[in-house]
Amino acid sequence: MKFGTKVLHAGIAPDPSTGAIMTPIFQTSTYVQETPGKHKGFEYARTQNPTRTVLEENLAALENAKYGRCFSSGMGATDAVIKLLTPGDEVICTHDLYGGTYRLFTTIYRNYGIVFKFVDLQDVEAVKKAFNPKTKMIWIESPTNPMMRIVDINAMVNIAKTYHSWVCVDNTFATPYLQNPIDIGADIVVHSVTKYISGHSDVVMGAVITDDKALDDKIGYIQNSAGAIPGPNDCFLVLRGIKTLHIRMDRHCENGSKVAHFLKDHPSVDEVFWPGFKEHPNHQVAKKQMRQFGGMISFTLKEDHINVAFKLMEKLKFFSLAESLGGVESLIGHPASMTHASIPKEERLKSGLTDSLIRLSVGIEDIDDLIADLAQAIEV
Ligand SMILES: *Cc1c(COP(=O)(O)O)cnc(C)c1O
Repeated sequence: MKFGTKVLHAGIAPDPSTGAIMTPIFQTSTYVQETPGKHKGFEYARTQNPTRTVLEENLAALENAKYGRCFSSGMGATDAVIKLLTPGDEVICTHDLYGGTYRLFTTIYRNYGIVFKFVDLQDVEAVKKAFNPKTKMIWIESPTNPMMRIVDINAMVNIAKTYHSWVCVDNTFATPYLQNPIDIGADIVVHSVTKYISGHSDVVMGAVITDDKALDDKIGYIQNSAGAIPGPNDCFLVLRGIKTLHIRMDRHCENGSKVAHFLKDHPSVDEVFWPGFKEHPNHQVAKKQMRQFGGMISFTLKEDHINVAFKLMEKLKFFSLAESLGGVESLIGHPASMTHASIPKEERLKSGLTDSLIRLSVGIEDIDDLIADLAQAIEV
């Protein structure tokens, strides 16, 4: 099955009791048993829910994997993956990690004796040096937030293999439409389903996907034991959103490319970070592991001042100022005062996060309106 068919059919079949073409919302907490232990495979809805099962099978198929598990948020999914570890285990992670993941690792799991090493994953030699026999996992994001750096997933897989470490990729920014880490050798894929996969800014959800039965059994055990599961209504909304994932992503990428080129040519714009540019330092790696370059773009202004950035954002009509990304409507964010506000200025400057850095999640609106909006908001 090709991607555009999988979104509609993988794991999905008409409801056998009615023929309903849409997966029913099984809004139930429990299931009746004839005699103790005699049931139809469903006992209690933390453990199994048929709406959730359909979504889990569909998500696994989108990543060319066998097993998927859904969680009540992307962080819930990440939390479940870290619960695979035991005290003393080491994790190597990208140094420009998603803020919520950084917080979970450094303020929660560090207290449980798990060691997190933050390394520039573009520097293969530094990664090799950071590995040792205690390294149980490498945690990758690509493209990264907000600098849109690209990590060579295959290079990381090759290093991890020699240490028998798990490779986990947070594939939220790329989505399974643009990048399939399991095909490149990753063991686990994590998604914030909240973003592009659900795509309509109306659900918070996460997923863990793997092709390894033993790993999936462990994740399933954690899912049922810790209980961070999504409800059936949210599973229905995500199933509905996924049906247009490929079409939405094509438009996000097309609009993203046009916005990136517009910004690059603008006299008031300093730098534009988007992996589709030939000059992007990791463009060749992006071309190798991604099908298109996505609709996430960051840029800086020649006049690098927080007030200039604020004024620009206030003037925009179609880019709403909000956290999050990946919805059909365009969003704009200011990392220095929003997502990365807790990082000291000297630290954030080191990774290029200047005062005027602005991040765009380019939506699927008409491109002429988006460009006109940016043109009126950016002062020459
Ligand atoms: C949003 C996000 C998360 C966290 O997901 P939630 O659904 O908000 O819990 C994790 N990783 C990345 C890259 C994200 O953008």
